Amino acid sequence: MGDRLKGLGVSPGLAAGPAYRLADPPRLPAPRPVTEPAAEAAAVAKALQAVAADLNRRAAVGGQAGEILEALAMIAEDPMLLEGAEQRTAQGLDAPHALEAAFGEHREALAALGGYLAERAADLDDLKHRAIAAVLGLPMPGLPEPGHPHVLVARDLSPADTAALTADVVALVTERGGPTSHTAILARGRGLPAVVACPGAVSLTDGTLVSVDGATGEVVTGITASEVSRVRERAGAERARLAASHGPGRTADGHPVRLLLNIGSAADLRPGAEGVGLFRTEFLFLDRADLPTFDEQVAAYAAVLAEVPDAVIRTLDAGTDKPLPFLGLPAEDNPALGVRGFRVDRIRPAVLDTQLEAIAEAARATGAEPRVMAPMITTRAEAAAFAARATARGIGHVGVMIEVPAAALQAGEILREVSFLSIGTNDLAQYTFAADRQHPDLADLLDPWQPALLRLIGECARAGQAAGKPVGVCGEAGADARLAPVLAGLGVTSLSMAAVMVPAVREALAGHTLQQCRDQAASLVPVG
Ligand code: PEP
Ligand code: MG
Repeated sequence: MGDRLKGLGVSPGLAAGPAYRLADPPRLPAPRPVTEPAAEAAAVAKALQAVAADLNRRAAVGGQAGEILEALAMIAEDPMLLEGAEQRTAQGLDAPHALEAAFGEHREALAALGGYLAERAADLDDLKHRAIAAVLGLPMPGLPEPGHPHVLVARDLSPADTAALTADVVALVTERGGPTSHTAILARGRGLPAVVACPGAVSLTDGTLVSVDGATGEVVTGITASEVSRVRERAGAERARLAASHGPGRTADGHPVRLLLNIGSAADLRPGAEGVGLFRTEFLFLDRADLPTFDEQVAAYAAVLAEVPDAVIRTLDAGTDKPLPFLGLPAEDNPALGVRGFRVDRIRPAVLDTQLEAIAEAARATGAEPRVMAPMITTRAEAAAFAARATARGIGHVGVMIEVPAAALQAGEILREVSFLSIGTNDLAQYTFAADRQHPDLADLLDPWQPALLRLIGECARAGQAAGKPVGVCGEAGADARLAPVLAGLGVTSLSMAAVMVPAVREALAGHTLQQCRDQAASLVPVG
């Protein structure tokens, strides 16, 4: 047995294999005095060749990705770039600084041309990081592609990195990130075991054999090949056991709690749940530089509605940790408290109009009756405004997310405007405890067992019961099997989660009567 690292398990499952790191962009060292400019020039040429060779090798996968990689390799081989860097070495710069300067000049020239070419300036930054890494003898930045199944290790992963993962990635381990970070959510969506907030992970050497337990957060490093095989066998057996679980969500005495899926696209749909409780539409467009068209949106929504006609579609939730560059939102000092979620409508109303029209069109095309809901609703007036916009397009089932304490405290009033509530516990915890949901050191405050959060959930559920309208939980608390009986006891009518979490939540509910659920809830949040 090897050494153990401990982090937070955020997506359950076992996996094992060699670890490979997502390398950070290299840091430029302090300039060195140059005694042999010719040696620096040779180092520059060798680095650019290494970058081009690496890209050409990876371009062999073909298709659109292959074409993009080939085009990047051609830029790395551009004689003008090499000449520019060589000139800098002749002027006395060392190889890394010569590359930095030459790429900088190239970048400015592209940016000045504007339009499509200006957008390619970011590609140059990536090439520059690769060339500087090559000249310094560091691993190439970006997602590793060893060409076989591996555990991806990173300081942190952006949502775009996570979205671009290949099928070769069998588990994720990051040093940063919290249980409600979007890395965790995307990992769960894909059924990938994941451990976040795991100190020491990025010090692993590429190729070290590790096992990952995405439930306990344990990462064992330096294991043997036969231990890898044993973990894989156990993982297969566990998957088979959970796959055998089926049926609707019920307490032991038959009280229904609907088990729904959180998805980012039709690709996340899996059998075994009772519907879709949260379709995060922004996940479709995270890596886009331009506004998704009406037709693209109709196709993406129809793909889900054709399978799940009553899916709950959430309108775009942009901002903070889910940047959508195509919205062109201005930079803010305090983005989590700024123009995000439904508030984007204040400055870009056409975006919501187009999206609602696309949802209505997808509903017509598939004969579905979708539900829509808006993220980050704060007041009754906002809920009323959203409901009016959706019903004007013929969407009959309109709800809102409860993610802001102000909205939870007004749940009864808000339910006069809409037909359901869905509690986003990730943001509701962030705003209730004033704790950044991505912060690895504040996980205790973001814990869904905190009584203040449970009390707010209870308020919403009571308002729902009084109005006779459903109130679900779609944040990550809804995927916590031990918490499921408590949420049922508080009066929540549905729990929405990634498909991999459904069997364990179903088992937990089935193990308690409704009265036991209520007793558990009352012991944590005394009423009155
Ligand atoms: C939430 O905040 O709990 C939620 C479901 O929305 P997201 O995680 O996408 O912000
Ligand atoms: Mg949210």
